[in-house]
Amino acid sequence: MSKSTAIVWFRNDLRLADNLALAEAAKEFDKVLPLFIWWPKAQVHIGSASKVWLHHSLLSLDASLQNAGSRLFVRTGNPVKVLKEISKETGASAVFWNRSYEPAELQLEDEIKASLNSSRVLAGHFAGNLLLEPWEARKKNNTPYLVFTPFAKSSFEKLGQVHIVSKPGNLPTAPRGVRTGTIGSLELLPTVRWDNGITDAWQIGEDAAERSLRRFIKNGLRNYDETRNLPALDDGVSRLSPHLHFGEISPRQIWAAVTREREKLSGKEAASATVFLKELLWREFSHHLLYHFPTMPELELREEFDYYPWDSANEYLRAWQKGLTGFPIVDAGMRQLWQTGWMHNRVRMIVGSFLIKDLGIDWRTGEEWFWDTLVDADLAQNSMNWQWVAGCGADASPFFRIFNPTSQGKKFDPEGNYIRKYVPELAKLPAKWIHAPQDAPAEVLQKAGVAPGDTYPLPIVDHATARAESLRNYKRLR
Ligand code: FAD
Repeated sequence: MSKSTAIVWFRNDLRLADNLALAEAAKEFDKVLPLFIWWPKAQVHIGSASKVWLHHSLLSLDASLQNAGSRLFVRTGNPVKVLKEISKETGASAVFWNRSYEPAELQLEDEIKASLNSSRVLAGHFAGNLLLEPWEARKKNNTPYLVFTPFAKSSFEKLGQVHIVSKPGNLPTAPRGVRTGTIGSLELLPTVRWDNGITDAWQIGEDAAERSLRRFIKNGLRNYDETRNLPALDDGVSRLSPHLHFGEISPRQIWAAVTREREKLSGKEAASATVFLKELLWREFSHHLLYHFPTMPELELREEFDYYPWDSANEYLRAWQKGLTGFPIVDAGMRQLWQTGWMHNRVRMIVGSFLIKDLGIDWRTGEEWFWDTLVDADLAQNSMNWQWVAGCGADASPFFRIFNPTSQGKKFDPEGNYIRKYVPELAKLPAKWIHAPQDAPAEVLQKAGVAPGDTYPLPIVDHATARAESLRNYKRLR
């Protein structure tokens, strides 16, 4: 039995750079076994679009490990059992991993620690997927932050210069003769293939994540404050969210690169870089909230909303999911999501507000749909943001701030180019009419080949009436 073997258990940290668990194992042990465990019966099932991403991300991780002289081992089953078995099989004296902070993962980690301890195998866990550990960010009175601005202020103060662990050049090899499944055998890809839209829209893996960061720093960062709300622009936002979710890049790598770049900037451009760093802190804030309020994915943080008459579904839900509501910016967003597995943040807020406040549907129904269709579906970010839109979360948008989808479209997609891309049946309408085709004069519609109610749906609700109804329900709460 070798004392010098360590297992590195990969989860949402599918990278070699800035991977503390991997770096420590590579430094301290003669043999290192990189392992991914797929547990189909896990408490939290990952969504369909995320599974597609995971498949490609694992292939990419395996290729990077092979370039470094190693490879990825794959097993299926309950990680508690698999880690115990495989450490016995290989004589490993340690299992290392980067911490996750989701409720089910925390519980799993505790079970693994107990099981490894009973076999006298060292359980080594490291900070990996956040800028600050959730227990580090607390108010002076030791309670968790519920308001973003002071949370961000204290995080900026604590963070300062962020240290990155570099990518190991050559990794120790794995012990010989260890059994492994293939990534294909995990059956993450759908049997009826609908996933082309995702693979066409994205490059997946650690190298792609690093390229996206470099491209964004070059083309998007300086004007981020203005461009981040314009969904028609390619480089207005970083599109790093799925890479971050799967840990193909760490928030520390992004923070370090952006703060380095910010030092070269001044005035509005430096301020834009700060706005971007604050968005990364919204990610932190959501994980911090989930850690302290583990029921956030299911229950409103503001208890008075327990009595809101949410409708879990109604006849309009399908139109929303399919992008057939007759509100072009909503439909463009929902179709972008369906086709590419991602939606621009401004549009996520618009479609969320529309589902909850125009259609009267429960925020959890939207959360579930996003969970299944987003490639960046993240328990903390998804639930915090749905509660933010619904007005029932910590530091949420007030319920009475109800987006008018038509004026939001006009404001943030003034030329209608985003709508043209995802709602091609409206592509020939001039910008003036593209946000409300039903109001366009007959000759304009005819020229553009649009027949409201036939080639494109009429609005499924009257926004003013729906808004008034939502506000009445809200007032009853108070
Ligand atoms: P950028 O604008 O480039 O921002 C950089 C990073 O900051 C993002 O990658 C993300 O990690 C973080 N960030 C930005 N905005 C937010 C925010 N509002 N909340 C938390 N973190 C943020 N994001 C997810 O990653 N997963 C989700 O499941 C998710 N669900 C959402 C659901 C709703 C209803 C809404 C309104 C937002 C949701 N978001 C979610 C937040 C946000 O929309 C995405 O993070 C962002 O659109 C990703 O694009 P980007 O990487 O180009 O962002």
